Amino acid sequence: MAFAYRNGLLCAEDVPLDQIARAHGTPCYVYSRAAIERAYGEYAAALAGRNALVCFSVKSNSNLAVLALLARLGAGFDIVSGGELARVLAAGGDARRTLFSGVGKSESEIAQAIEAGILCLNLESEAELERVAAVAARIGRQAPIAFRVNPDVDAKTHPYISTGLKQNKFGVAHEDAERLYRRAASLPAVEVVGIGCHIGSQLTDAAPLVEATSRIVALAKRVEKAGIRLAHIDLGGGIGIRYHEESTQPIGRIVGAMLERVDLRAAMLILDPGRSIVGNAGVLLTRVEYLKPGATKNFVVVDAAMNDLMRPSLYDAWHEVRPVRASEAPAQAPRYDIVGPVCESSDVLAKDRALSVQAGDLLAIMSAGAYGMTMSSNYNSRPRIAEVMVDGARAHLVRRRETIESLYALESVPDW
Ligand SMILES: *Cc1c(COP(=O)(O)O)cnc(C)c1O
Repeated sequence: MAFAYRNGLLCAEDVPLDQIARAHGTPCYVYSRAAIERAYGEYAAALAGRNALVCFSVKSNSNLAVLALLARLGAGFDIVSGGELARVLAAGGDARRTLFSGVGKSESEIAQAIEAGILCLNLESEAELERVAAVAARIGRQAPIAFRVNPDVDAKTHPYISTGLKQNKFGVAHEDAERLYRRAASLPAVEVVGIGCHIGSQLTDAAPLVEATSRIVALAKRVEKAGIRLAHIDLGGGIGIRYHEESTQPIGRIVGAMLERVDLRAAMLILDPGRSIVGNAGVLLTRVEYLKPGATKNFVVVDAAMNDLMRPSLYDAWHEVRPVRASEAPAQAPRYDIVGPVCESSDVLAKDRALSVQAGDLLAIMSAGAYGMTMSSNYNSRPRIAEVMVDGARAHLVRRRETIESLYALESVPDW
């Protein structure tokens, strides 16, 4: 376990979290190198012996230390912006092992990606195909492309993180795919290299992933029958993690079930997981500022807030909250909502938790390694918080806390 109690203190690997709070302040994100390596290793083991590539989804955690660690393990990357491409390259990642997804790529992002030698642009509309062809022709290059096909499978996850249904903005319709592949194959400035899908996030049941795999493989065969060779098939990310009481299956079992549906031996298989690699490898470390008992509700006011970890207010997501100093919450311990200082009623990190806490105590919001820091904002003029990567007995500061001055450094008052 990357995060476990030792001598009564919650530790990240071998480092007690109170030591990190003293050295780097709170709130801060704390990641475990070993946990990231272990999760990546589960994918690598499941895919061993196959022509395959794991493209880590950068939007789940884009800290350079995380990206560099994964690049060293041999990961490729899945990006959704030119900014993420720059991060991958700055971290020593390889553009030739990087996929560019997303519905709204700009002309400059497309040019930047082609010039960097991107593995593939995952296209999500016909208009985007025409734009990519025009940009590639203008810069005198051929653009490697795949279509992200919407397999119309219900991922049965939160509607905000379900992406594979017809009503979602993502992907091209299954029934349009063959026509789009023919069109792409006719354009000299584009090179068709693959096909992909991604049906949603935090999927704890293998069935929708297996169903989507079957549909994409069947479609890939039809495209190849039309004489268009597909060098890779990208089955997306989306495997869920345990936040609370979800019954999750091991990564290896889910990937294994998906692989059973892939009988295209020639094609390279790509997966683009994010959450399942970093989600349980990070915690948000925060300090209790005040206890605020009330007539109908008790509050613990902490120094972290919705701008630091948006998932609870955005998706009503549940994160386990553990005291850093081990304490048995007595049976009659008061129940608290854990809230931050931001001026919104939705600034709640956790609801109705039995805790025995006092002002000054440290709490760890668990499973915060994915879609935590990357979704954070400066709302209420709060500097973005520090990030720390623990490696055995060492804690490395991998992103300094933003300064107050940096919050308005780009602003100016007109000379009225
Ligand atoms: C966000 C995203 C992923 C990663 O999803 P997880 O649920 O974090 O594994 C993979 N592929 C695409 C195209 C994405 O947009």
